[in-house]
Amino acid sequence: MVAGKSPLTGTWGDSNCGGYFGPEIKKCGFDAILIKGKANGPKYVAIIDDEKLILDATDLWGLDVVQTEERLTEKHGKVQVASIGQAGENISLISGIVNDKARIAGRSGFGAVMGSKKLKAIILKGNRKIPIADKETLNNHAKEYNQGINDNTSGMIYIFKTLGTSAGNTFMAQSGDTPIKNWGGTSKQDFPGVKLNKISGMEIDKYKQKAYGCFSCPTRCGAIMKVPEVGLEETHRPEYETCANFGSMLLNDDLMSIFTINDLCNRAGIDTISAGTTVAFTIECYENGIISKDETDGLELNWGNSPAIIKLVKKIINREGIGDVLADGVKVASEKIGKGSDKYAIHSMGQELGMHSSKFYKSMGATFAFDPTPGRHTTPTLDFSTAGPMAKPNGLFEGFSLPEGFKKSGDERSEAEKLVVGIWQSLNSLGLCEFMGSFQKYPLLQIMKAVVGWNITIDELVKIGIRIQTLRQAFTLREGIDIINNKLPERAVGIDYLADYKGYCKKMGWNPENGYPLEETLTDLNIDFVIEDLY
Ligand code: SF4
Repeated sequence: MVAGKSPLTGTWGDSNCGGYFGPEIKKCGFDAILIKGKANGPKYVAIIDDEKLILDATDLWGLDVVQTEERLTEKHGKVQVASIGQAGENISLISGIVNDKARIAGRSGFGAVMGSKKLKAIILKGNRKIPIADKETLNNHAKEYNQGINDNTSGMIYIFKTLGTSAGNTFMAQSGDTPIKNWGGTSKQDFPGVKLNKISGMEIDKYKQKAYGCFSCPTRCGAIMKVPEVGLEETHRPEYETCANFGSMLLNDDLMSIFTINDLCNRAGIDTISAGTTVAFTIECYENGIISKDETDGLELNWGNSPAIIKLVKKIINREGIGDVLADGVKVASEKIGKGSDKYAIHSMGQELGMHSSKFYKSMGATFAFDPTPGRHTTPTLDFSTAGPMAKPNGLFEGFSLPEGFKKSGDERSEAEKLVVGIWQSLNSLGLCEFMGSFQKYPLLQIMKAVVGWNITIDELVKIGIRIQTLRQAFTLREGIDIINNKLPERAVGIDYLADYKGYCKKMGWNPENGYPLEETLTDLNIDFVIEDLY
């Protein structure tokens, strides 16, 4: 997880990605790396076998993340690399940080933070053993859990293992979850099955070379692809979010263009959610006469025009021509363009919304609008988190159940939202993948005890998570963000999300009128040092 103040939203920001970089931090003997200050010229940080260096990165500046990783492993041997591409160097507010050549912490704009610090990369090679309190018990739990995943040769786990997140490309659009045509259309009317099938997970799977997974994950939802049709000898499988953004959102059924764009964005280190939504915004502005062909550098930006879309993505990455107007996402772009273009800018506090409709997952409305990291689909939210085993009593974790009536609006739903946010912020801080919650029961407390030796309870974990969420909230408020008065774009409004949020605030011990954590809440959570900052 990368965390800091988001240059995109001005709020607390965090962003997750998988791969092998995170565990290497621990192998280097650290729990986190804090970057302060700014270099005069391009630099990279190297932590190799207890030696810590800040090295010159002039030769790396301008390279994409794959080239950067290759250059650094040539020089230093097998190291884990997190770097920025051209988008981060260009301080694009929708750029991210990439490890394992294509795993991107894409949200919150942290590529721009590294770019502004002239920090091209961090490389790690640790030699420390990670202490485990009870290795035998841990191995037994891991073996049993992994067997449940590995033995499954039908059903959802199997489909997910085979197709990864792209498994959702078709049915999620048809069910109403995937936003279509910049959140203004429907699958039935604008992007029906015949088009969706051309970008389905099954179609994408035809190009798979091999599956891969993040550190010690049995699910292995990633894949390396080869797509000779567009000259890609080795590329990564486009995720659902990328396919939705550059497919359904743009009415684009040209799969080859999606492979191309996915590779371009990964290499340049730009968030495909924000980039795709920005392209959708631009197309809608063009189609409605707000911007002309002269202003698009001659591009005919009609829905589904994939050659023009590819050219536009390159311009955004390089801040070239109209790309410079668009490189900081839709909020900044609509402010620059004016002429009523803001009605096509789908974002929350500057961050483009994830590809899960807040009309479909109702709780997503309040989460998109008011979470300290606004616009995010991976921040905990009740309806999304309960799409898997968590919906049932003790279904995901022994000892964790939601109030029976959580599906209906009211007190029990607000209580459930608090519990989900609490447990899930704890899981985030443990570095667990969100897909852990999708399929089968997880022996959470037993594994925690085996690893760190703590006899922690579910209630304690929920409270830790509430403390984390309250700190995220307090940070955002302290930075002057008026959370409660934020509004979602009309197209993303399903229910009365403000009423939803107020119920949740009460349960969290926050003032429902402004979202401020109450002083007694801060004291109860043992973070009373925050009181001075907020009051
Ligand atoms: S399920 Fe999660 S941890 Fe496993 S490979 Fe996929 S993203 Fe990585």
